[in-house]
Amino acid sequence: MTDLQPARGTHDLIGEDQRRHHHVAETARRIAASYGFDEWITPIFEDTRVFSRTLGETSDVVTKEMYTFEDRGGDSVTLRPEGTAGVCRALVTNGLTQSLPKKVFYAGPMFRYERPQKGRYRQFHQIGMELIGPAEPLADAEVIACGWDILKALNVHADTILELNTLGELESRAAYREALVAYFTAHKDSLSQDSLTRLERNPMRILDSKDERDRKIVADAPTIEAHLTEAAATFYAKVKELLARFGVPFRENPRIVRGLDYYGHTAFEFVTTKLGSQGTVMAGGRYDGLVAEMGGPQTPAVGWAAGIERLGMLLDAAPAAPVPVAVVPIGDEAEAAAIGVLQSLRAAGIRAEMSYRGNLRRRMERANRIEARTAVILGADDLAKGVAQVKDLKTGAQEAVSLPDIAAFLA
Ligand code: ATP
Ligand code: MG
Repeated sequence: MTDLQPARGTHDLIGEDQRRHHHVAETARRIAASYGFDEWITPIFEDTRVFSRTLGETSDVVTKEMYTFEDRGGDSVTLRPEGTAGVCRALVTNGLTQSLPKKVFYAGPMFRYERPQKGRYRQFHQIGMELIGPAEPLADAEVIACGWDILKALNVHADTILELNTLGELESRAAYREALVAYFTAHKDSLSQDSLTRLERNPMRILDSKDERDRKIVADAPTIEAHLTEAAATFYAKVKELLARFGVPFRENPRIVRGLDYYGHTAFEFVTTKLGSQGTVMAGGRYDGLVAEMGGPQTPAVGWAAGIERLGMLLDAAPAAPVPVAVVPIGDEAEAAAIGVLQSLRAAGIRAEMSYRGNLRRRMERANRIEARTAVILGADDLAKGVAQVKDLKTGAQEAVSLPDIAAFLA
């Protein structure tokens, strides 16, 4: 079986990688909770229609990236490529559309059939939040502020900037779409093949193209500003005013789009200069049409998702591994007594380990290998007096502590 390898674009999270991952998710979970968000855990596979219907038949994700298969019962299921659709499906199928607002946080694996490269995998992980119910710009500003707080708590905010845009209302976008089609049609000869397809199906998506030639043309493309209704412009102004109030710095970028029809008004990305072309760490926007597409009532919502791997790579250093206490018995009889000490330490919340075999020298070597700070050494003479030697492995200092007091002594 030595020819077995992890599937392309997947990776195991072990040691430092796991600690980075865990730290990102735990920090986000804690801060989202402080904003009143509850975690939802939805299935990692769904009826394919949950995604095909809502992500838009023409989006990159649906046309090229989904892991879709027929299960043994003949149903078409898809490994979730993103979290929002599942949360909205859950809102509707759990009958929660009448108890709004719902403030949802999630964290977990997502699957996209992409060309693997640094910061881009086939199984990756996202944290995300959805604020479902409020149509007010305060909701947009608040979810963005929460995202910013998470970046700050992770200390990755210094090289990261919020890029903000508005997609206006349906009528704003319809007018803008026409302006874009006119502009890009005039530059048809220089567009990439992908963007020619987008021109027919979803011209706004061209603004998001990563192709160098496309980007040159995109640079001079018209912006939506001229096409905003008064209400949309007012909404956008309010979001900006509130972001200032929340203390979130931002830069306007009229090229930020979400190519799906159910997105409107606020669109944003947190972008870093540190990850090359995979520089978007968090992306989101307002999606007032999605719950309705899922078969629920018309329901406003706004949210974002962030890649845990990309945030993990930005962390200065991996969080330190927890430091254990090594319990070191000398001889078989001492081992029996050591189990009591071991369990009293664990009960006090102290990480405590005891090797499974070995003499004193071997066990002390093992204590060094697991980078223990302290060893609790139990010899026959000490045990007869009801004490053990508690040794600081850095300084070498050692003192006898009575067995029932060791946990309190170390805590
Ligand atoms: P990109 O433009 O990089 O393909 P996207 O628009 O497809 O991103 P979203 O669907 O908005 O990304 O997902 C939100 C975040 O999830 C991204 O900003 C990124 O941090 C992360 N992400 C998306 N796809 C991947 C992937 N294949 N591998 C790792 N992280 C990813
Ligand atoms: Mg993508």
